[in-house]
Amino acid sequence: SYFTELGLAEPILRALATKGYNDPTPIQRQSIPALLEGRDLLGIAQTGTGKTAAFALPSLHRLAADPKPKKPASCRMLVLSPTRELAAQIAENMRGYARNLNLQVDCVFGGVPIGKQAKRLVPGTDILVATPGRLLDLIDSRALTLGRVEIFVLDEADQMMDLGFIHSLKRVAALLPAKRQSLFFSATMPKSIEDLGRQFIHNPVRVEV
Ligand code: AMP
Repeated sequence: SYFTELGLAEPILRALATKGYNDPTPIQRQSIPALLEGRDLLGIAQTGTGKTAAFALPSLHRLAADPKPKKPASCRMLVLSPTRELAAQIAENMRGYARNLNLQVDCVFGGVPIGKQAKRLVPGTDILVATPGRLLDLIDSRALTLGRVEIFVLDEADQMMDLGFIHSLKRVAALLPAKRQSLFFSATMPKSIEDLGRQFIHNPVRVEV
């Protein structure tokens, strides 16, 4: 099958063509139609399966279909990633997929001064990719609020647990608006991770690759 059959908007298909991607990977084929409908997703998938595009493409489609002006210290989509390297990679991929759309992608992570990141968030952004610790630091310093998040992605949930982010994730969960689309990805799904997932996702489509 081809990307052109999945219902994605033309500017997104053009970005995929630029990258030379014609065929969706299995997780993309199984996730994108449900995500375009606004469903929640529980994805059991490793890095390398194409899961970034699986969550990025339908999210970009939905955000672009309902354009909204940026509002100070807020974002419309939040992607949480366990490490700065993964966060930076996700943001770079999303910028590529969004190249023909009027959507801004920003990335924040620890280990660098917070001031510049806080300043960039003053006018607000569309899509924010973040590590949990720095995200909460920005929230605590009033540089960011989560009240306008429409789409929430928790990536690599098992790695998040291993890195001790459980308390941070529960804090984030409590700050997100109830009405939102949530996507939850993990390479493995033991009971502890599934229980964590239940705090974020409701009636999800389950995809395992
Ligand atoms: P990910 O699992 O999201 O880290 O993606 C793994 C790699 O596959 C990345 O370099 C992507 O850019 C690439 N990729 C994602 N989707 C496709 C596709 N449908 N066709 C070819 N390459 C892809």
